[in-house]
Amino acid sequence: MPATVIVGAQWGDEGKGKIVDLLAQDCDVVCRYQGGPNAGHTVIVDGETFKFRHLPSGILSGKVSVLGAGCVVDPEVLLEEIDGLEQRGISSEPLRISGNAHLIMPWHIAIDGAGEKRLGKLQIGTTRRGIGPAYADKAARLGIRVQDLLDAKILRQKIETALQEKNIWLERVYELEPFELEEVAARYEGFAQRLRPFVADTSLLVDEAIRGGKNVLLEGAQGTLLDLDHGTYPFVTSSNPIAGAAATGIGIGPTRIERVIGVSKAYVTRVGAGPFPSEMEPELAAQVRELGQEYGTVTGRDRRPGWLDLVALRYAVRLNGITSLALTKLDVLSAFDELEVCVAYRLPDGAETRDFPAHQSDFHHAAPVFETVAGWAEPLDECATLDDLPREARSYVDLVERELGVTVELVGTGAAREQVLARR
Ligand code: GDP
Repeated sequence: MPATVIVGAQWGDEGKGKIVDLLAQDCDVVCRYQGGPNAGHTVIVDGETFKFRHLPSGILSGKVSVLGAGCVVDPEVLLEEIDGLEQRGISSEPLRISGNAHLIMPWHIAIDGAGEKRLGKLQIGTTRRGIGPAYADKAARLGIRVQDLLDAKILRQKIETALQEKNIWLERVYELEPFELEEVAARYEGFAQRLRPFVADTSLLVDEAIRGGKNVLLEGAQGTLLDLDHGTYPFVTSSNPIAGAAATGIGIGPTRIERVIGVSKAYVTRVGAGPFPSEMEPELAAQVRELGQEYGTVTGRDRRPGWLDLVALRYAVRLNGITSLALTKLDVLSAFDELEVCVAYRLPDGAETRDFPAHQSDFHHAAPVFETVAGWAEPLDECATLDDLPREARSYVDLVERELGVTVELVGTGAAREQVLARR
């Protein structure tokens, strides 16, 4: 039974958490393959809201839940999340953490905040949780890994080596207080004692599960346009959310992945700075923000709403090899009589393109070419399957399918677990 990837097809916050939670019901193993404590997935079950920053959403259903080698782990945040769930009666016992995942250390958090401050108006809009600096140290071969928690002596040595360099940066470049070796070592040894039981060879675990015919779900955080290599650099995350990275992030071969489900809102949102061709006018944006509750799960920041952008979605279908789509939050568009859909971009030289511009300047200056379509202007609460959608809503879904050449498998009509429509 090959694995399924669930990937954000836009700028993140597409509602992946809910789709993963839904599909996790029929799965045996749920894995995160990249990112850190910035996933921000919201899952609502029986009126109870769960917000995940670090753990795979599958933990709610008691499934084996993996943090793969491609993740960066903040032990403090992870333990907070584990404790919070335990208090609500949800066991973290099925959690498995790759020993190859990297640790977020206190200096990463300090440098992330100080770095953004220094950039001033040019800041990237990071979550300031040390994720970017932790990935940077991983690439620089200066990182400390989860497996280093298994041996107190090695852990202390690695902290000492890192601090010899980091403290110079902190003091001389960022004018911050240095970290004290004994203090950091003692704190991380405390985390280590609690996290050791979760450390496992997750590459082996997942490969064995797949070969044993188990259902494995690989859950991406953030979204395609935030991909470090293929997103709208530099306004991107510091890892690779796209589906191909699921194989490297977990440590399985790409041939083990058969299905890639792209999750997209029926419109678009973007957090933080950066160009956004289909962005809505401020008044409309405020209305959608309120209707869709478009405020960051981790940061609480306002999200910027825009009309559905088929140029960007076509790019996501290409980059991820998306085999089907889950279109979330269709209910939010019920408020409008008419909708705009961005079907192409007009570039500065006047040319129109349906493909995402390969060069940053073209994207920065791209103007949206909108097609106006009829809205349905009625609630979707009564629909039981995709076929029950009002005619105009059905046409909207058909337009997406036709333009992208991909089937829409699921449609979201509300925040709760059961508010998802499938085909009859
Ligand atoms: P994720 O990081 O991709 O999981 O996305 P978030 O959880 O940050 O954002 C999605 C938000 O939309 C959450 O508050 C969800 O509860 C909510 N949501 C998900 N699907 C739907 C839907 O179909 N309709 C509505 N109205 N809300 C939804």
